[in-house]
Amino acid sequence: MTTTMTPPVQEPTTGLADSVFDRARTTFLKFAEPLKLNEKYPGRGVLERMTTPDKTVSFRLSLEMDDGTVRIFKAYRVQFNDDLGPYKGGLRFHPSVTEDEMKAMAFWMYLKTAVAGVPFGGAKGGIAVDYPSLSRSEKERLTKRFALMLHGLVGASTDIPAPDVNTGQREMAWMLDAWRMADGTYSRAMITGKPLDMGGSEGRAEATGRGCIITLGEVAGDMGMDMKRCTAVIQGFGNVGRGAAHELHRRGCKVIAVSDINGGLLNLSGLDVEALIAHTQRTGSIVGCPNAKAIDRDLVLTTRCDFLIPAALEDSITINNVNDIQAKIICEGANGPTTHKADEVLHRKGVCVVPDILANTGGVIVSYFEWVQNHQELYWTHEEVIEKLTTRMIANYRKVADRAKDRDVSLRQAAYELAIERIAHAITERGVQ
Ligand code: NAD
Repeated sequence: MTTTMTPPVQEPTTGLADSVFDRARTTFLKFAEPLKLNEKYPGRGVLERMTTPDKTVSFRLSLEMDDGTVRIFKAYRVQFNDDLGPYKGGLRFHPSVTEDEMKAMAFWMYLKTAVAGVPFGGAKGGIAVDYPSLSRSEKERLTKRFALMLHGLVGASTDIPAPDVNTGQREMAWMLDAWRMADGTYSRAMITGKPLDMGGSEGRAEATGRGCIITLGEVAGDMGMDMKRCTAVIQGFGNVGRGAAHELHRRGCKVIAVSDINGGLLNLSGLDVEALIAHTQRTGSIVGCPNAKAIDRDLVLTTRCDFLIPAALEDSITINNVNDIQAKIICEGANGPTTHKADEVLHRKGVCVVPDILANTGGVIVSYFEWVQNHQELYWTHEEVIEKLTTRMIANYRKVADRAKDRDVSLRQAAYELAIERIAHAITERGVQ
């Protein structure tokens, strides 16, 4: 079998302004417009407050490499809004990390927690680093150094980090360990996405991908589609992509194409999802998995299918490829995978887009469950967690779908409106002093 290696990820040319945060803010203001917040709360500066981060902190991290040389990395934590509760948001270790990207991610995060109905605000942080290229001990030193820089800024009732791109249970455990050494006490609830034996929650690892498919199942049902007769394509095969693949497979849906940073795979009869997950865990990539044809990474996005799940990075579906998309439903596992212009095209073409701030809330919902279990030091079974997750995902989707139907707007418009209303209300209730 041959494999096709594609070049490293590059920012797609979107034809839009470079700042992902500016674009996120423009989209927000467009969706906020029908709510007339400045008329409803005159002179309260609500829109400005909702689009300006509370705090942005940047750090210089020095790391002694295994060969004795020293490298410097930039790192950030953006605390965007805590009107609904403590800041909450993941940590991303990736070369694309900039203050601008973190601001956009933190912005989406507080909208997401509002849609999810969990008592948190929004934050995001990360390090601009090619993390996979570091040795294991370099990774641990860098992560613990970052944890110490964040010490004092984060906490169980102030700001609770979680995993994101290139971070997982291992990094969460290292961070908790650094804080335990600094404080001399365990405060498990100050970070979520931990390993089970350090106070993690059952079901957290697969929660985002699984939650996506729970919502997708409802959307497909509403559109009269039977998942068992449908095909799905997944871009990105990390935490979210694998969780989504597993749940699709469990529901009898055929996953026909997947991609990761190294390439794509296609099998129109359906990929062997269990074998693919095992192969990825063993080798670190989907590339080379048997019984599939190697295709270009980006062709996966435009493969004919019923469901497309972008689960890699932002700006994957742009004005450059949107007309080639052949899916009937796009369910956004990633944050910000569709640019605003591309979204408008999809809406005009009648493609149903399940927006990120609804679709990928499974992770933050089970992070909330983890935080609750840490506070009570009493833990739920896997079945209990999945049942609670399923109930919440379906209820949240119904609220968004009902609003979309009543007002004849897209699911994205409806989800934004719900989030914006909830936060605007909290902002005005708490006063301004
Ligand atoms: P991850 O690091 O586990 O996986 C990312 C995957 O995307 C990897 O397989 C990588 O190879 C692939 N990838 C990167 N660039 C690509 C490209 N151009 N084409 C194809 N594949 C590419 O990260 P993750 O935690 O799965 O996060 C993925 C997305 O989901 C991000 O947008 C993240 O913010 C979002 N998200 C994650 C969580 C979570 O709980 N982990 C929750 C909500 C949203």
